[in-house]
Amino acid sequence: MKVVKFGGSSLASGEQLEKVYEIIVSDPERKVVVVSAPGKRFSKDSKVTDLLIDCAQRCLKQMDPGEQFATVVDRYAEIAAELMLPEEIISEIKADIAARLEADKSNPDRFMDFVKASGEDNNAKLVAAFFRSRGIEAYYVDPKEAGLYVTNDPGNAQALPEAYEQLHKLRDRSGILIFPGFFGYSKEGEVFTFSRSGSDITGSILANALKADLYENFTDVDAVYAVNPFIINRPKEIKELTYREMRELSYAGFSVLHDEALVPAYRAGIPVQIKNTNNPQAQGTRIVSERDNTNGPVIGIASDEGFCSIYVSKYLMNREIGFGRKLLSILEDFGLSYEHTPSGIDDLSVILRENQLTAGKEAAIHHRIKTELHADEVKFEHSLALIMVVGEGMRHNIGTMARASKALAKVNVNIEMINQGSSEVSMMFGVKEVDEKRAVQALYDEFFAAVPV
Ligand code: ASP
Repeated sequence: MKVVKFGGSSLASGEQLEKVYEIIVSDPERKVVVVSAPGKRFSKDSKVTDLLIDCAQRCLKQMDPGEQFATVVDRYAEIAAELMLPEEIISEIKADIAARLEADKSNPDRFMDFVKASGEDNNAKLVAAFFRSRGIEAYYVDPKEAGLYVTNDPGNAQALPEAYEQLHKLRDRSGILIFPGFFGYSKEGEVFTFSRSGSDITGSILANALKADLYENFTDVDAVYAVNPFIINRPKEIKELTYREMRELSYAGFSVLHDEALVPAYRAGIPVQIKNTNNPQAQGTRIVSERDNTNGPVIGIASDEGFCSIYVSKYLMNREIGFGRKLLSILEDFGLSYEHTPSGIDDLSVILRENQLTAGKEAAIHHRIKTELHADEVKFEHSLALIMVVGEGMRHNIGTMARASKALAKVNVNIEMINQGSSEVSMMFGVKEVDEKRAVQALYDEFFAAVPV
């Protein structure tokens, strides 16, 4: 049995829904279908979720959401018209969204989640109606009734352990089950959404709960690529990678799958297959626990911008008990989360996402480190990019670091920081943002150019 998830672009129009239908009926194992809200039809188009957020924001500001509301309803109406579905389905969707916009606003975050979730909820109803109109047995599943219990954390809900037990019962239901992605219900019966792009998480939770043989995630690319296709033209496709490799790559910008979405599948050892709705024949990418290592040391290279480092040095730092703790607790006082802490004998750098900092915070942190920790030097460095070179094969290959640093030296990229060793499957380089593309290109040439596809 397979759990199959379709992203917003796969559900953006009637034409796309026809493809989804063909994909589902072509394989009887595809029993549970998780759907996103309708996404973009073209690059300048709006996602229904974004339109709904807009509607909710306007209501909270006591502004008229009329235009945005009409645009949302029109999106569903166009799809329904293309598929020649009866009028009632649209009146139901319209009434549902209108009622949500009238709901209690005393807690704005909860109100927002209630409105946002309607994108998927109504789309699941529409997809179920479409499948039935084609003569197959298909049912919309209400996540409340099915027991998808989540924490009451607006915009960032997590599934509760008991949800898995409840959802397991879906196995006994007949027909194709159409399940809305992106949200669940608290024990008190209120709607809470996962973080953005969270329908991937719903699919993974269901795959785990139902002990599926496979979690298929349909999107709009043929595969996960070895490197960002916006940096390298037509990069190599990855056929198979491990959960750990995917986790490391998605950390630094591989966004094909939501990074929280791997966890439930990983815990149950369920393989995840990334496929393309627009080209279902393409093999796609499979994410598994273990793979035969046939591709050399590196499977992918990811990079992400927007980091900064706080460099702290103090003579005899290594002998000072509690230095690291005190430094990190200063950051904690400012509500900052950190990413890495590469260190030497007398120095330590803390790498953070720089969007958490303001000039005021930076000055205050600088002052506290200097005065409370008596550091010799404190230096902030901005506009750094992190490059992750990832591959299980690194463990068995000698000289991968040497090859990587030589490749960077050849194109004159200065390595600001290296972090290697803590993870067995990745090496991380910090470089200046201006050098990022050149660095990625050089590493790609080194590890992939000569490897047959
Ligand atoms: N529709 C939601 C979003 O745009 C969730 C999803 O598509 O997975 O974030």
